[in-house]
Amino acid sequence: VTTEPVERTPKGKVSPPGPAVISWSGLKRWEHCPQHHLRVIRKEVERSQMGRVFLPGTICDLVQRRWLESAAPQPGEMAEMVGTVFADVVAEGESVIKWRGNPLQDQQEVLAYCRQTVTTLEPWLVRNVLPYDYQPEVRFRAHMKVPYLCEGERLFGIVKMIGGIDIVVRDDQGKFRLYDLKTTKNDGYIRSTLAQLIFYDLAWGVIQGDFYHAVEWGFVTPALPEPYIPITVGREDRAAMLSRIIKYCHGVWADQWQPKADDDGCNWCEARGSCEKFREVPIVDENGKQRLSFTQAAAQRAQYRQ
Ligand code: SF4
Repeated sequence: VTTEPVERTPKGKVSPPGPAVISWSGLKRWEHCPQHHLRVIRKEVERSQMGRVFLPGTICDLVQRRWLESAAPQPGEMAEMVGTVFADVVAEGESVIKWRGNPLQDQQEVLAYCRQTVTTLEPWLVRNVLPYDYQPEVRFRAHMKVPYLCEGERLFGIVKMIGGIDIVVRDDQGKFRLYDLKTTKNDGYIRSTLAQLIFYDLAWGVIQGDFYHAVEWGFVTPALPEPYIPITVGREDRAAMLSRIIKYCHGVWADQWQPKADDDGCNWCEARGSCEKFREVPIVDENGKQRLSFTQAAAQRAQYRQ
């Protein structure tokens, strides 16, 4: 994402803004707290402490991908792959894993959860993916032009949508289906992220030059009683997603990175250490000593709550 100010060409014309990069998680983060998103872009956040929370999902995702990418996926293999993938993910150490209680016991619980989940997942993949042409983990970059009004001039800026679709399937009729794997037991979480597939559909439509290219969208949910949650994506859903994306781009191009007004979740925010709202305010006292001003820091926090 560029945060450069708009520039004028030698003839006095306003230059279009640089490209705004947007992922689904980035869009949600920016909508929740623009300051948090800025700190992530600038890599000014602490290493994630949430490794344990996301561990089962990361393992199941990777097992699914490796199994679908293998030359001839066979039933029963996915559960057998869990141990190796678990070891790989833990060794990689991308985020901090804080084991719950007894580490060995907790690790066994993660392994059991993942084996159970992929054992439910596998027959679904055998029925709905293996018989067709498919591609797991489809990384995409989709470019769109977005209108932008700057100093009275109508410009077009570029937005670059990025992300990865867990599985894309082309069925017997040549129609495409987009699937996302969710290994949570919390169906409320799935309901809160339904628009993720609308984001993917929009990007897929841009890449293919056809917004009717995909005909089925769904969350594969092997840890829930119902292992598949289909959603529908229509014209209005795409329009609503497009307006969220345009709002994001305008915010980025206008350098709007304000911290959110309330403090909910700020205590465990990965960006708190670099957040403007919680920045320490150094002062020099009457003896010439460097100190921190607690009152000025409080005034700074209050400013963002107005
Ligand atoms: S600490 Fe709170 S206000 Fe600051 S970046 Fe994080 S969520 Fe936003």
